[in-house]
Amino acid sequence: MAPAEVHHLPATPSTPHHTHLQHALSLARLCPRSTTAFSVGALLVSPTSSAIISDGYSRELPGNTHAEECCLRKFYGTVAAAKAAATGNLEPKDVDYQDGQVQSIFEGYTGEWELDLYTTMVPCSKRMSGLRTCLDRIVEASKVIGPEGKRLIKRVFCGCGEDDRFVKEGNWAEGILREAGIEVWWVGGLENECRNVAEMWLEKKAE
Ligand SMILES: [Zn+2]
Repeated sequence: MAPAEVHHLPATPSTPHHTHLQHALSLARLCPRSTTAFSVGALLVSPTSSAIISDGYSRELPGNTHAEECCLRKFYGTVAAAKAAATGNLEPKDVDYQDGQVQSIFEGYTGEWELDLYTTMVPCSKRMSGLRTCLDRIVEASKVIGPEGKRLIKRVFCGCGEDDRFVKEGNWAEGILREAGIEVWWVGGLENECRNVAEMWLEKKAE
């Protein structure tokens, strides 16, 4: 299978993708202070109705959490809670579903598929903390298959790349996403703003 496409949207004309990324930026501004981590915002959107399915920002959930991680975990939690309520079970609390569990949450799911994920910074492909990467989580979500072979996530839109201040090997998310069949879209015109917000609490600015 050939890698999925990569697209570069120019700064103008403004598109709904720019609007969604602006929304993700407004979420990134809510990130609790951390002098050692980026501040990122993420949004899961229906490409057909533009409805917002879930959102998240860095450190929103307890622990050293990332924006895309929070966005996906909140989405899974909502779907799992609705399913549990329908079967009379107790509402699951803040569960971090592991590999292999996510597909089962979506058995019987009647919501939308082939969602778009917007993130102000390209998903992390390595974490200093050794915690699970957002790249890994997004690839997992893309493997959740629904009716007619539709996948849960189809495209990832990014506002800016990641510099090498934390991870010296660089970020290899674009290639892995594309190999996993996920289109990568770089949204032009918001790079500087996305980067400035990402760095807003960092002690050490880029040299
Ligand atoms: Zn991450």
